[in-house]
Amino acid sequence: MSRFWSNTVKGLTPYVPGEQPKLSQLIKLNTNESPYGPSPKALAAIASANTDALRLYPDPNSDALKQAIAKVHGLNPQQIFVGNGSDEVLAHAFLGLLKHDAPILFPDITYSFYPVYCNLYDIAFENVPLNEDFSISIDAYLNKNGGKNGGIIFPNPNAPTGRALSLKNIKDLLDGNKNSVVVIDEAYVDFGTESAVSLVNQYDNLLVTHTLSKSYALAGLRVGYAVGHPELIEGLERVKNSFNSYPIDKLAMAGAIAAVEDQAYLQKISQAVIQTRTELVKSLDQLGFETIPSSANFIFTKHPQHDASKIATSLRDKHIIVRYFKMPRIDQHLRITIGTDEQCAKLIEALKEIIN
Ligand SMILES: *Cc1c(COP(=O)(O)O)cnc(C)c1O
Repeated sequence: MSRFWSNTVKGLTPYVPGEQPKLSQLIKLNTNESPYGPSPKALAAIASANTDALRLYPDPNSDALKQAIAKVHGLNPQQIFVGNGSDEVLAHAFLGLLKHDAPILFPDITYSFYPVYCNLYDIAFENVPLNEDFSISIDAYLNKNGGKNGGIIFPNPNAPTGRALSLKNIKDLLDGNKNSVVVIDEAYVDFGTESAVSLVNQYDNLLVTHTLSKSYALAGLRVGYAVGHPELIEGLERVKNSFNSYPIDKLAMAGAIAAVEDQAYLQKISQAVIQTRTELVKSLDQLGFETIPSSANFIFTKHPQHDASKIATSLRDKHIIVRYFKMPRIDQHLRITIGTDEQCAKLIEALKEIIN
């Protein structure tokens, strides 16, 4: 604590990301990165952008990237907002679209950046508990506070549970909640969930966020985007242009465009992750683990006879890192990122030794 800190800074409880250890030889299954490299076309595009032109500022509006994203989704560029990772896109959505008198709603177990943004921007929020099986109840949102809220946000599939809602559920939520913005954070949508992007032309209060960090294997590039009604997008642009005019640098711009245009590669590596996930869940079943059905590139699992934090520590001793949350309701679960088949085989070997 410094006497020079503002009261705002004194009051912050920052998000703590999963660690990025400097050790090599680690099997890193803790932050939901892709085990595969980015599209070779994206890498080539970044290399070609590495020129003398870097002395110039990038396009502040990222028009070419918006066009590429719009094309993939069959929308127009006025429906696209891009940012420095979807965390930044979400931050602008909190300030620009979710800050109202009534509290916003999100699950008790969800992406832990949401309460951090609420704290930073002084946004009132209330948690809506997940069901016993960790599913999201749409009715609980529609009934909360007599249907009055400042906005609703959750990931689909949810993190860290991996459970997904159907598009029908999202539609029901939107039909029942027309007077505030609904943000669906689709960071993991490419691993087997129906996207709500197909609904943005029907609902002017729907904002869907995507990231290139997980399924596109570009966490290091920091690119995310939002899709929604042009007026929602304009709101985000107003915040962005009051904060940082150039969130997407030239290298990120080149790489992101090429990655988004390479849908075949995205499909290929997403399918590989899904296949490994199926095998991993089977192997965990055989060891007595109970795993929540996952639609993400991670699984959320627990062992009825073994303490989760102890398993995490023992795995670490064997140079495998997974994510453990010391939080109510989930302190007996582990979140494990889907690695390559080889990494997952090593994980299973290590778990066998630990629980026997
Ligand atoms: C990883 C993640 C993000 C943020 O992704 P970036 O684009 O890397 O900032 C957003 N929401 C959820 C639920 C995530 O898990």
